Amino acid sequence: MTAASSGTVLVLNSGSSSLKYQVVAPSSGEVLASGIVERIGEGSGHVKHVAHGAVVKREQPVADHAEALRLVLALFDEAGPSLADAGVRAVGHRVVHGGALFSAPVVVDDAVVEEIRSLIPLAPLHNPANVTGIEVARELLDVPHVAVFDTAFFASLPPAAATYAIDAKVAAEHGVRRYGFHGTSHQYVSAAVAAHPAVSSRTVGRPGPLRQVVLHLGNGASASAVLDGVAVETSMGLTPLEGLVMGTRSGDLDPAIVFHLVRNAGLSVDEVDTLLNKGSGLKGLAGVNDMRELQGLIASGDSQAALALEVYLHRLRKYVGAYAAVLGGVDVLTFTAGVGENDARVRAGVVAGLGFLGLSVDPALNDERSSEARVVSPDGSAALVMVVPTNEELAIARQTLELARR
Ligand code: AMP
Repeated sequence: MTAASSGTVLVLNSGSSSLKYQVVAPSSGEVLASGIVERIGEGSGHVKHVAHGAVVKREQPVADHAEALRLVLALFDEAGPSLADAGVRAVGHRVVHGGALFSAPVVVDDAVVEEIRSLIPLAPLHNPANVTGIEVARELLDVPHVAVFDTAFFASLPPAAATYAIDAKVAAEHGVRRYGFHGTSHQYVSAAVAAHPAVSSRTVGRPGPLRQVVLHLGNGASASAVLDGVAVETSMGLTPLEGLVMGTRSGDLDPAIVFHLVRNAGLSVDEVDTLLNKGSGLKGLAGVNDMRELQGLIASGDSQAALALEVYLHRLRKYVGAYAAVLGGVDVLTFTAGVGENDARVRAGVVAGLGFLGLSVDPALNDERSSEARVVSPDGSAALVMVVPTNEELAIARQTLELARR
């Protein structure tokens, strides 16, 4: 059976000035086409479409998301595959914030669009583009549309983990709680770990529920604690700003730093928002947000870059230790996303000093480059350290087709 005949999904990820897409076969994971429209609404747009092993690039202004999607659909017609030939049965939309309204993917109708719109105050940077993407795609593509939420996997957080210790009435009135993000990735990766032969044989850890810590380390970064497939803690909170040190985001800090900067540095609230989201993390500390560039600076003797990596690793070790306490121990620690999958030095740096939890890496296994899910801890370790490539598009495609078929 071909990918097209068993049904494929067009996965759309609408950012504020970009539209990413993939046509994915949920059964095999095959990607039939992919691409991106960048700089939407700016002077010069950039379009890249990859299909049949060929790349089509265009430079042209793209006024808005409607024009971007029309352009993408025209490229499918011109460069192939046509959506019909590709067997597209449904569209899966990545939606960043599902708030307290959505704890699972949902087939989109007018009411769902309005509910996602109502969550814009919680995610002013992301949900507006997600809503626009859904509206435009519904107009142009007459197939079922499914929204898959970045927050959904963390709807299971116990109240003790999800609740901030602020005035309960204020919190309830304004939806202030820990929602968590990157949920599609944490769910996909933790399920892949549980199904991996090294884990499913359960020669690892103690008998009983499987205790996992997952570190999604990309430009954005987050940690989760997962107990027998259920998320019980995560590092991102009301927004994706909390938690780990990221490419451009600060992660955890004393909330009074915001008051201090507003009162004493003369920054507006919006300027502090931009500082913490776009000018902090590795970029704020060392001037670069890309881990490869940071490693390059460290190799050239840049002491500020070396400090940035130490801060990054220290935060990660603190989180793994804290989550070991939450879970009562760790059976598997897994690294995923751009940095987690590719940077052996970061993986080694995180577990350095975590031997008391049974966590360590075998240098040869850790240094091997591979795109497969794999174990990098030494044979016979008390706990496993794994590298599992994430695949959010495939996870969205699977959840979408499942719902669209019902
Ligand atoms: P993501 O957001 O998952 O696409 O990850 C982006 C991050 O992964 C950037 O900081 C990249 O520098 C980092 N990255 C990608 N490839 C490598 C690599 N080979 N070594 C170190 N970091 C990498």
